[in-house]
Amino acid sequence: MISNSKMKKTSKKVVVFSGAGMSAESGLKTFRDHDGLWENYRIEEVATPEAWAADKAKVLEFYNMRRRQLMQAKPNEAHALLAKLEATHEVHIITQNIDNLHEKAGSTQVLHLHGELMKAQSERHPELIYELDKSDINLGDSCENGHQLRPNVVWFGEAVPKMQDAEIITSSAEILIVIGTSLNVYPAASLIYAVPKKCNCYLVDPKAEELLLPENWTVIRSTATEGVKSLLKDLGR
Ligand code: NAD
Repeated sequence: MISNSKMKKTSKKVVVFSGAGMSAESGLKTFRDHDGLWENYRIEEVATPEAWAADKAKVLEFYNMRRRQLMQAKPNEAHALLAKLEATHEVHIITQNIDNLHEKAGSTQVLHLHGELMKAQSERHPELIYELDKSDINLGDSCENGHQLRPNVVWFGEAVPKMQDAEIITSSAEILIVIGTSLNVYPAASLIYAVPKKCNCYLVDPKAEELLLPENWTVIRSTATEGVKSLLKDLGR
C-alpha cells in the first residue's frame, strides 16, 4: 500500500492560478464580462483607496452585499475537481478571487493574492486581520486599537503583499493551470512569467482567443467546469 504522503512526494507540482471566471458558474459575477462593471458598480467607486477615503459607508455596503451573496454560494464542479486532484498531485492554488470557494471545495493550499472577503482588517494597522463570522462590517466596527475595520481586500492601486510568495511557489511549477482570468490586473497577471521553462502551461477560459500568451501554451476555450474536466483527462494520460 502506498501512503498518501508518498504519493504526494512522487507526484507533479501543479499550480492553479484562478480568476473571477473560476467562480462564475457558482453565480458570482466577473467584471471584464460586464463592461468593466462589477455587479453594476464602477471599480473606482468601490475598490480603491480613494473610494474608501471618499465614502466608507458605500464601500462597506458593496462588500457586505458581496459577502451576503458569497455566504449563499457553493463551489462548482471545477473547484471540486481541483480539490480532488490533491489525492494524486501536489496542488497549490493561487487565486485572485476574494471568495472562499476553493477552500469550501476542500483545497488545502490556497493563497489569496487579492485578500479574502470573509476577513476584515484595521484601516490603520493592516497587519491586524480578523475572521468574519457574519456578513457585514459596519461603520464603527473597530480593531483592538479602536480604528475602523475595512474589508481585507487588496484594492486597485494598493501593493500586493503576497506577490513574492506566489512567485516562489510558481517558480517550481511543473504544471500551471490558469483558469478564468482576463490577465488584465497587474502585478498578478505577471505570475505566468514566473514558471520554469519546462513547465506545461494550460489556459481555461471561454474568451481565451483574446489573450496574448507566450508560445507553447495549451488553450482550452471553455468554461471552468468543462475545461478542468478535459484537462484532467489529459493529465491522467
Ligand atoms: P476578470 O473579470 O477580469 O476576467 C474574468 C475572465 O473569466 C474573463 O477572461 C472571462 O472570459 C472568464 N470567464 C467568464 N466566465 C467563465 C467561466 N464560466 N469559466 C471560465 N472562465 C470564465 O477577472 P480577473 O482576471 O480575475 O480580475 C478581476 C479582479 O476582480 C480580480 O483581481 C478579483 O480580485 C476581483 N474579482 C473577484 C471576484 C471573486 O472573488 N469571485 C469576482 C469579480 C472580481
